[in-house]
Amino acid sequence: MAAPFRLKSMLALVTGGGSGIGRAVSQRLSLEGASVAVVDLDVSSAIETLQMLSRGLPGQEHEAFAADVSQLQSVEALIEQVQSRFSLSPRIAVNSAGITRDEFLLRLSEESFDSVLSVNLKGPFLITQAVARAVVASGQNGGSIINIGSIVGKVGNLGQSNYAASKAGVEGLTRTAAKELARFGIRCNTVVPGFISTPMTQRVPQKVLDKFAGMIPLGRLGDPEDVADVCAFLASDDSKYITGASIEVTGGLFL
Ligand code: NAP
Repeated sequence: MAAPFRLKSMLALVTGGGSGIGRAVSQRLSLEGASVAVVDLDVSSAIETLQMLSRGLPGQEHEAFAADVSQLQSVEALIEQVQSRFSLSPRIAVNSAGITRDEFLLRLSEESFDSVLSVNLKGPFLITQAVARAVVASGQNGGSIINIGSIVGKVGNLGQSNYAASKAGVEGLTRTAAKELARFGIRCNTVVPGFISTPMTQRVPQKVLDKFAGMIPLGRLGDPEDVADVCAFLASDDSKYITGASIEVTGGLFL
């Protein structure tokens, strides 16, 4: 249940906002009063998300942007476009853009390794750096950066050495950013989902999903909204003494 207007007057940037977890996060942050910059590789998916956002407060506006989070130039252009559209910088960033290119290690190509690391790990680095620089340049401290990791980064998974490495890296990046950026009032945390029903998991064979579902103490795959609940908490002042943390949203998988 969304706390009404906990994020009033805040601008949030959500990458991967055109699908799955990023879409649910965009919806939830808007319900809590934030204006949302919805970012995706394909702007049409971000525009679709835009239609689903809440506009309950005067002055609450949302916009869709196309950007490739793995490219420095694209991220720099994105931040400029967002600042120009909203006349302020985002102080909440949720890095949900992510990809998989699954293959067993013995057959994994360099290209599949590099592309997953570029989107899943370099992307959060570029966005964190750009958003933090904008906060510092504004002279007004404060912000919350939320990176979406994965339980696979902690425990590994067959066929996902590239993905697991990227997600383990996200937690290291986030913990270090938390230490460096605390003096600017910017908190950085990782949300660590287990298996969540989204287009990403629709690509996983049903028998594998059934196997994992059977191992989840709470008895079901997660919904994107389960992850969005935790992102909203981390974005808000209700988590003001939490930074450098990793919060698992797994239904108890791998307890
Ligand atoms: P999803 O539905 O596939 O959404 C990911 C979105 O990111 C897609 O819209 C995708 O666009 C976009 N994207 C891909 N590359 C991008 C780039 N270079 N720049 C900007 N956007 C890009 O996946 P999801 O399940 O919501 O996953 C969201 C995040 O949660 C990911 O980081 C994922 O690793 C993580 N996660 C998911 C699960 C799960 O079970 N679903 C579990 C743990 C962690 P395209 O569709 O055009 O590629």
